[in-house]
Amino acid sequence: MTNTQAIDVIEELFAAQGSSEYFGEAVTQAEHMLQAGALAEAAGAPAPLVAAALLHDLGHFHGEVSGHDLMEGTDNRHSHTGADWLAQWFGPEVTEPVRLHVAAKRYLCAVEPGYFALLSPASVHTLSVQGGPMTVAEAAEFAAHPHGEDAVRLRRWDEAAKDPEGPVPAFAHFRPLLASLLRPGAGEA
Ligand code: FE
Repeated sequence: MTNTQAIDVIEELFAAQGSSEYFGEAVTQAEHMLQAGALAEAAGAPAPLVAAALLHDLGHFHGEVSGHDLMEGTDNRHSHTGADWLAQWFGPEVTEPVRLHVAAKRYLCAVEPGYFALLSPASVHTLSVQGGPMTVAEAAEFAAHPHGEDAVRLRRWDEAAKDPEGPVPAFAHFRPLLASLLRPGAGEA
């Protein structure tokens, strides 16, 4: 598989599965992720973190447990399945903030007064399924993680990227950035 084909696979997922409703939010899953990528870019984030924001929920498309199951009360661990799937093409600067973006919500709810109030109703619901706010010990461990800070930045864009009036760039806008981040030989088997 060439690098271009790897990005084609991702673009196809956005087109095919991303058009479905995003569990109770006002935007589709694809719009949500494109907005998150745009917010990261507007904030001047480094390219790997922009890619992480753009791709953070891809695990919803790949897990054996669907997002709808998550809303029904089963944690689909979408952050881990997404990160593991992306690791075939991208390095840890992209995959690890994706892996930690659910933990970052649990972290922010534990350490930041008022953060919980920013969550959408759907995100409040999934928080309980995902383990609720972190304990003090868990939060200290998270804060020390090398990719914890990036995951927290991603998480804030995740929360903001549910705006039906917000700008939604085309996937093509991000293709050069993604191409620049593919690991050498990625996807060749
Ligand atoms: Fe998200």
